[in-house]
Amino acid sequence: MARIYNFSAGPAVLPEEVLKEAAEEMMDYRGCGMSVMEMSHRSKMYDDIIKAAEQDLRDLLNVPDNYKVLFLQGGAYQFFAEVPMNLMKNKKAAYIVTGQWAKKAYKEAQIYGDAVAVASSEDKTFSYIPDCSDLDIPEDADYVYICENNTIYGTAYHKLPNTKGKILVSDVSSKFLSEPADISKYGVYYGGVQKNIGPAGCVIAIIREDLITDDVLPGTPTMLKWKTQADADSLFNTPPCYNIYMCGKVFKWLKNMGGLEVMKQRNEEKAAILYDFLDNSKLFKGTVVKEDRSLMNVPFITGDKDLDAKFVAEAKAAGLENLKGHRTVGGMRASIYNAMPKAGVEKLVEFMTQFEKENLK
Ligand SMILES: *Cc1c(COP(=O)(O)O)cnc(C)c1O
Repeated sequence: MARIYNFSAGPAVLPEEVLKEAAEEMMDYRGCGMSVMEMSHRSKMYDDIIKAAEQDLRDLLNVPDNYKVLFLQGGAYQFFAEVPMNLMKNKKAAYIVTGQWAKKAYKEAQIYGDAVAVASSEDKTFSYIPDCSDLDIPEDADYVYICENNTIYGTAYHKLPNTKGKILVSDVSSKFLSEPADISKYGVYYGGVQKNIGPAGCVIAIIREDLITDDVLPGTPTMLKWKTQADADSLFNTPPCYNIYMCGKVFKWLKNMGGLEVMKQRNEEKAAILYDFLDNSKLFKGTVVKEDRSLMNVPFITGDKDLDAKFVAEAKAAGLENLKGHRTVGGMRASIYNAMPKAGVEKLVEFMTQFEKENLK
């Protein structure tokens, strides 16, 4: 068996220990004679799985008691609509547009009400996070929306915006569980799991209880009303059972690793290896303002399209895959999520060093 180093932005690398464990349990989950895929979501066995997953997630993020944890479907994209459906009581919301995903969420919200872009970094291809200390947030805004780690552009908020007392809603898809978070600062903390947690097909939303009500926009589908999901503990209909089981395994793995403080340190170490190299390279350079760099997604370029393509092809041949950058940025992007081992980043930098030697004119 040969595993590559997978730098994909998502679906992305998962911990090998977790994949092995899942393989071992595939045919016969703990003596019950079937796979978790074949199990009723109403069974005691499955209830234990989803309850343990929720508890482990709560432990990892120190989720306060007045927050609900929901396991949902539809991807982060569907959640872009769920946010206004459930929160836009005044039909007004403030969006900070720091990349494609924030922009898509902003566009989606316009279907439901008056979504206002209060800041944007589109003027410089989203290569920075705007100053959010004193934004012009409408008095009657129902919430302020951010995308906390911009998967495509490789920027991240290192300080939360001043929402002037409004509810903060944050898409953390590509940084979920990469470091500790103070959940009490958020109204809604959510993300698709396929970047940093588990297989595609599940969204985890951590929502302050008082924001989960029957007072939703008219026409909101039953399934998309958070109260429906919260009242049924994410078991209103058949949830993505196997996916939640896999996420649960990753939560246990994170706990065994020492929790999110330890993950943060590891992620900082890994990112530093790559950023230090980029800062000193004569061939490669990072595309993002230093202060706003992401620990998870690292875009870089040579400045020469053909050379970028050559790099991606040769890296693949060397077992370093999915390094091609997003089409709107070009160049390369290394996603170095929790499950990417330090050895993978070291190997990448070693490869880049060699490539630079051979290709620097
Ligand atoms: C990938 C991604 C999304 C979209 O996720 P889907 O589950 O495919 O809808 C949204 N936001 C961010 C930050 C992402 O990285």
